[in-house]
Amino acid sequence: MKVEVIVPAAGSGIRFGGDIAKTLINLAGKPLVLHCLDVFEKSPSVSSVILAADARHLKQLETMIRDHRLKKVKAIVAGGKTRRESIENALKVLDANTKIVMVHDAARPLITVDLLEAAIADCVTSGANVIAVPVVSTIKEVDPQTRVIRKTLERSLLWEIQTPQTFKKEILLEAYVKRGSFEPTDDASLVEKLGHPVKIMEGSRRNIKVTTPEDLILAEALLKQK
Ligand code: C5P
Repeated sequence: MKVEVIVPAAGSGIRFGGDIAKTLINLAGKPLVLHCLDVFEKSPSVSSVILAADARHLKQLETMIRDHRLKKVKAIVAGGKTRRESIENALKVLDANTKIVMVHDAARPLITVDLLEAAIADCVTSGANVIAVPVVSTIKEVDPQTRVIRKTLERSLLWEIQTPQTFKKEILLEAYVKRGSFEPTDDASLVEKLGHPVKIMEGSRRNIKVTTPEDLILAEALLKQK
């Protein structure tokens, strides 16, 4: 059963500050994006990886991937203006015989082989799942103009959604075809809109997303502890 992974890595890293692209920033001795690519390389169920990256970095990434001997990266496609566009560019180069598509943000370097394998195994029966952790803070909806709280959400029902997100290929393709004008921040929300159930798989608090310089410090510490 062929499993392909899409890694969106074309974000501008505005929230990170600085000039260097976040994808290429040094984390514990290697560029951020290489951390998750190394995990996919080791994952027995993953056949190949499609990377979506900023067009200005394609050559540099090609060299990096060759030098790092990453054999599973089959294509590097140009990213789009939004994450959704980056994913759409990658969907175009999926293999015809691929059965399962996993999407994983390059910004999450602490993913593990065990989590990937569990998500893939579950997807065979569920058709769609996401890795997530229960929310620990109280979350409130706030009026953007007045900054006054509208309501407090019931914490026991809330999960913080991470990646990877794993889908049967035909479900994910249909979700993107039927997107309409909705601009999603993850892939599951499009599958939810289709009406297909998306299962939550409890992941790890270590699987952090590197968005700000503080996250980089945390990621370094977690990687050292591994
Ligand atoms: O912007 P956000 O934090 O949601 O980005 C999640 C992932 O999507 C990151 O790995 C980022 O590099 C990627 N992305 C992308 N193309 C964009 C915007 C974000 O591939 N245009």
